[in-house]
Amino acid sequence: MSNLSTSSTGSTGSRGRGRVDRMPKRCWCREGIVALTSKSDTNPYRRYFRCGFAATNKLRNDEHTFKWVDEALINDLDKFNAKIGEVEQQVKELRTQSLEFEKMVCEKVQMKIENELFEKVDDALAESKESNKKMMIVVVI
Ligand SMILES: [Zn+2]
Repeated sequence: MSNLSTSSTGSTGSRGRGRVDRMPKRCWCREGIVALTSKSDTNPYRRYFRCGFAATNKLRNDEHTFKWVDEALINDLDKFNAKIGEVEQQVKELRTQSLEFEKMVCEKVQMKIENELFEKVDDALAESKESNKKMMIVVVI
């Protein structure tokens, strides 16, 4: 039973430093972060990140980095989901943009085809007029 009082130091330690959203590679004391397994009664075998310095010196109630691995993963997952939402939104915007672009290109192509057609029709008309004249000339002769 005497174990109970010391077993909760991990979580109080994390509360002391405030919420750490993303796991940094290093503690603020420049020591690397290590992944450890909790041996406490309240969180047996629960994995956590800890400042290497605090871990080797078995510090308690300190200000060094402490974070449960699962909580860190959930935070990462939340961020990841938020990012996916952003990307989805961007894809949607891109899709409408490309649709508008396609429409624009289609209109341009159509206009070009129409112009070319008009030119060809004009040419054909001019040609037929020419041949009509020739015909007329032939007829007159
Ligand atoms: Zn540290």
